[in-house]
Amino acid sequence: MPDDAPLLSVRDLRVSFRTFDGQADVLQGVNLDVPRGIRVGLVGESGCGKSVTMKTIMGTLATPPARVTHGQIMFDGQDLLTMPAARRNRLKGTDMSMVFQDPTTSLNPVFRVGHQMEDIVRWSDRRRGIQRNHKARKARVLEVLEMVRLADGERIYDAFPIQLSGGMRQRIIIGMALLNEPRLLIADEPGTALDVTTQDEILRLMDDLVREEGLSLLMITHNLGVVRQMTDHVYVMYAGSVVEDSPTAELFDNPSHPYTKALLACVPKLDGTATYEGIGGSLPDYTDPPAGCRFHPRCPHATDRCLTRPPAFTVRPGHTAACWLHEPEAHA
Ligand code: SF4
Repeated sequence: MPDDAPLLSVRDLRVSFRTFDGQADVLQGVNLDVPRGIRVGLVGESGCGKSVTMKTIMGTLATPPARVTHGQIMFDGQDLLTMPAARRNRLKGTDMSMVFQDPTTSLNPVFRVGHQMEDIVRWSDRRRGIQRNHKARKARVLEVLEMVRLADGERIYDAFPIQLSGGMRQRIIIGMALLNEPRLLIADEPGTALDVTTQDEILRLMDDLVREEGLSLLMITHNLGVVRQMTDHVYVMYAGSVVEDSPTAELFDNPSHPYTKALLACVPKLDGTATYEGIGGSLPDYTDPPAGCRFHPRCPHATDRCLTRPPAFTVRPGHTAACWLHEPEAHA
């Protein structure tokens, strides 16, 4: 596996759901790469398919009602979709780890924090064929509690989740994801259930840890401020596919897809020039989506051409947009 190959590479991923109203084609061919040691953002409004993408990568999507109909998810050169379930399960929580968004529901209220964290170490030791006694496992838990900047690890080890604040619980969730030294961290809107000050502390902590540990990060969020602060490269999703991808700074300087421009126009600005009405219209019905570009019913630039689905056109090196406005002939 060449060192410059992405750690995670998703190709033409399609996922459908069986519903009472018929088949809903929720992912329509998602492509994205997470290179080694790089922080990648996946952004879009609620319902655009971010969480389905993340769950399909982690293998936690309920099938049925969902069904992966096409695609590849390559992790370190191995296709997660075709590897035996036991091997895939070994990767979860070890090489790939997940930080969940809601610390209040992610911890079991009836077990002490240390007990829950030690369980993760024991579980992954078994999968890796390692044997550690209670003392060594506890030492690892205390080490991680210190890593996530929680002082007084012994007290937290013995505490029940209810005895800790939301911010402390979110730090524990991050610590749990780091216990087994993963190479890829997938974070689903961490801290959104917390107040903004604590959320900011949590995001800074995660950013520090990702850099210190040299991890690859896939950050799923609807918050463009988080994307700007926390990622090197960003994928913008709309209605089940990636419509634009770019280095983060370039995306904010030169947004190229009409959907990305509309999203950015909604971000409140200090001079009060944001579009407070939001983006007109709503996400399409996935059981009966519009033909061609799924954004066309909401797009001010739509033409008949948009009734055919646009491919991803290169706007600048490393920056693509799936929009006919960027077809090379359109500029000729
Ligand atoms: Fe708008 Fe057409 Fe571009 Fe879609 S392809 S974003 S409808 S201009």
